[in-house]
Amino acid sequence: MATLLNNPGSEDLVIDIWEGGSALYGWDILDACVDRLPLLVNESTCIKELGGEPIETNIITEFHGVEEDIIKKLGTTDLSSFWPFKFVKKAYLPEGGWCNLFRRKISKIRGKRVFGEIKYIDPEARELRVSWWKKLRYDSLLNTLPLDYLMKKLRKMEPVEDKLKSVPLFIGSLILRSRMDEVRIYYLGKKKFSSVTIVHLPLLTPRLQDFSIAYVIIPYIAYRNQGAFREKALSDAKKLGLLNKEPVFIRGYFEKYGILHGKVSGSAGLERYGITLAGRLGKWKELGICDVFKEMRAE
Ligand SMILES: Cc1cc2nc3c(=O)[nH]c(=O)nc-3n(C[C@H](O)[C@H](O)[C@H](O)COP(=O)(O)OP(=O)(O)OC[C@H]3O[C@@H](n4cnc5c(N)ncnc54)[C@H](O)[C@@H]3O)c2cc1C
Repeated sequence: MATLLNNPGSEDLVIDIWEGGSALYGWDILDACVDRLPLLVNESTCIKELGGEPIETNIITEFHGVEEDIIKKLGTTDLSSFWPFKFVKKAYLPEGGWCNLFRRKISKIRGKRVFGEIKYIDPEARELRVSWWKKLRYDSLLNTLPLDYLMKKLRKMEPVEDKLKSVPLFIGSLILRSRMDEVRIYYLGKKKFSSVTIVHLPLLTPRLQDFSIAYVIIPYIAYRNQGAFREKALSDAKKLGLLNKEPVFIRGYFEKYGILHGKVSGSAGLERYGITLAGRLGKWKELGICDVFKEMRAE
């Protein structure tokens, strides 16, 4: 997203791993797209700025169990940076989902695009190489890729990736045959639930308005030896009474960068090589979509 907000022009080159690399790209379903993550915002302006129609929704929360259990399963020290905890009472969603706004923005890119893995970046020479492509020279580089990834690719720089930590999450998306007018967030701090949160949202796409989507968030590390994440997601949704019928669509998503921790001091001084950091992953800072807008504008 941060790259798109920078409005790449015909002189610019956009490099990404693959087209659907951003979590905001969404999933394709029934000629529509649905978001991969539960994405709520506290203000409507950034939705409007992206050309979307903001829909205000009430938030209803339910807490089952204790916060300590959630903290333990996530392996974090506190929950203040965990997304679902940031929303109370009211939030905004764009009609048609974020994926629609994001894809519309991608289709307007005027710059050239290259997909592939970055092999290395030589900051002194201002050169980089992408997969099988020849060497590319740049004047300035805006990094919105995860900072730990960038640091691994930089030649002749002190490695800092061990200081950058993230909590990986499995996010099961269950499309349910039930209409919703509000957002329901369940915090699950009880042993019988594998998930720590379920966020149940209305689907604001005209073709899907009789359906809703439940995002079941399971800490990956706590259950990686057991596996069966899909089954766990279904079982938790069932225990909460969300499944009176089988879901019409289920998709699992592994989010390596679920919660970000750690310092980025090793990246200080990158400006000297023409490298600027941007976005939540690029800056390694818990920024929401609207925060990314604000930061881009401030710079
Ligand atoms: C679980 C979760 C819930 C969230 N909930 C909210 C919310 O409710 N409200 C809100 O405002 N924000 C929320 N966010 C944050 C929101 O997703 C970001 O603000 C938004 O995606 C913009 O961030 P960005 O521009 O840094 O990232 P992106 O647009 O995702 O860009 C990052 C780029 O890095 C590339 N990339 C990713 N992984 C790799 C990798 N392993 N190797 C190489 N390249 C890679 C991608 O291809 C992509 O192009 C949530 C995030 C998470 C993880």
